Amino acid sequence: MTMTNPEHPSADPYCVMGNPVAHSRSPWIHARFAELTGQPVHYERALVPLDGFAEFVRDFAARGGKGCNVTVPFKLQAAELSTSASERVRLAGAANTLAFSASGIHADNTDGLGIVADITRNAGVQITGRDVLLLGAGGAAAGALGSLIEQKPRRIAVVNRTHAKAVALVDQHAALATLHKVELIALDKQGLEADLTQNFDIVINATASSLAGAEVPAPASVLRSGSLAYDMMYGPAAQPFLDWASSYGAIARDGLGMLVEQAAESFALWRGVRPPSAQVLSELRALLQAEAAR
Ligand code: NAP
Repeated sequence: MTMTNPEHPSADPYCVMGNPVAHSRSPWIHARFAELTGQPVHYERALVPLDGFAEFVRDFAARGGKGCNVTVPFKLQAAELSTSASERVRLAGAANTLAFSASGIHADNTDGLGIVADITRNAGVQITGRDVLLLGAGGAAAGALGSLIEQKPRRIAVVNRTHAKAVALVDQHAALATLHKVELIALDKQGLEADLTQNFDIVINATASSLAGAEVPAPASVLRSGSLAYDMMYGPAAQPFLDWASSYGAIARDGLGMLVEQAAESFALWRGVRPPSAQVLSELRALLQAEAAR
């Protein structure tokens, strides 16, 4: 990592830390946010040794780094390393955003804010009062659940291949769900498949099934006419899920908007300025389409 941009030597250094990280679009997104807001931000990609996350973070901060995004597999360690954290981090047990200051390392998790912003603002679909199915109980599902509850849907059912993890995730969020009067349950996959009357307004695939090229981990009976079927995955790997959803009359949406919106939340946390995320999302989608057509 260079820490500085020769064209803007005084720009504040940020990065995304992960392993692997070469695929990350975050540097492109944050460079556009910086250009469009005029903020002096220099954002790089950092491949962090699997056994050296804490040391890397401390070194980056000591060399003048102002903050970082954190991706696979370091989100849990990022939460543990922080000296203060948002309620979102406490609920998810994971952080995707760190901000460095003289008082220490502050952690936040913007994945949930990102998916909520993409569903409600970009897709124009209301979550309040609706029935939501959340597939998965890994880091992405954990990051999203608190923010989904805060939208006050009528009901959220969590289903995961390993049922015990869905139960644990629901238990962790039970008090928040009660506070917002949301019915929150962990559903058994066999139960979901057996009961063909169980359907939802919004179905969110927060599993790694698309990444793994595996089949959609839910029967088509979970969809209602006009449901939103959302895969957190984006790019070609999300296409089978999108095709599945469209073939059953659902509105299909990939996770590219979540990616841009969670980045926008991180940027706003660091800089106190909200970037024009919808514009950057449409630019990124056009870029990816052009790359795919080559
Ligand atoms: P993770 O922590 O490793 O969790 C993986 C989840 O997927 C677990 O619930 C796991 O179930 C389930 N799973 C894995 N393979 C499966 C299969 N073949 N069938 C059914 N379930 C399967 O991963 P993660 O960080 O949550 O990421 C999940 C997905 O979200 C990835 O595709 C990632 O790219 C995406 N994501 C997108 C964004 C965005 O900004 N768009 C942000 C974060 C994540 P078990 O518990 O049974 O193993």
